Amino acid sequence: MKLTIVGASGTFPGPRSGCSSYLLEQDGFRLLLDVGNGSTGALQEACGLLGPDAVIVSHLHGDHYLDLITYTYARRYHPEGQAAMLPVYGPSNIREQIVGAFGRNVDDLLAETYEFHPIDRDQKVAVGPFEVDLRRVNHPVETYGMRVSAGGRILAYSADSGECSTLIDLAKDVDVFLCEASYLDGDDNPPDVHLTGKQAARFAASADARRLMLTHLVPWGDETRTLAEANGGYEGEIVVARPLDMHDV
Ligand SMILES: [Zn+2]
Ligand SMILES: [Zn+2]
Repeated sequence: MKLTIVGASGTFPGPRSGCSSYLLEQDGFRLLLDVGNGSTGALQEACGLLGPDAVIVSHLHGDHYLDLITYTYARRYHPEGQAAMLPVYGPSNIREQIVGAFGRNVDDLLAETYEFHPIDRDQKVAVGPFEVDLRRVNHPVETYGMRVSAGGRILAYSADSGECSTLIDLAKDVDVFLCEASYLDGDDNPPDVHLTGKQAARFAASADARRLMLTHLVPWGDETRTLAEANGGYEGEIVVARPLDMHDV
């Protein structure tokens, strides 16, 4: 399983990164996890504009799905012809949220671009060669963390989450734990929204994850501090997700 970071910035785009978007590839099938705002620029470098074969959206905060709005134009009006329908898995109201973001009737456009698969509870879905276990995590809106298996490898993605034991279930013995680390330890962080690097490391250690990849760092944060906090609590390899970096899971 190959992972390409498409966008890794938390909450809003940074000067050199769009928001959350991660491309997984197995047997020639490309699965995109999240399509945050600003991510479809780098997507064109990662796999080509029409590269993804399916999308899973973790939750409907703008930094995880908003580029799906303008991406409809890319797929519907591409000069080489209309792209294949794109399966889009996401929270129960994903279609309504996208219609709302357009602010007008877009039934025809959506019917020609996206095939929606709403998720409304913890469930497992098969998407191409990927088995995806979706579980609700601890965030103010309906949010699904994921455990993605293919070709004998496993990647877990925290999505956005505050502390919760589900993260340990998702990341148990995985090859890569892609975990958010939005906050800095010691700040006045609200509970049940995001994690610090220190908390991400603690969950990775509890889950015996083989590698920890920190993501969703916010542009006004401090990457050096986040890494230092994480290094104190986890003995495995820790990397920070950077746009267009490729990793073998
Ligand atoms: Zn986010
Ligand atoms: Zn969020």
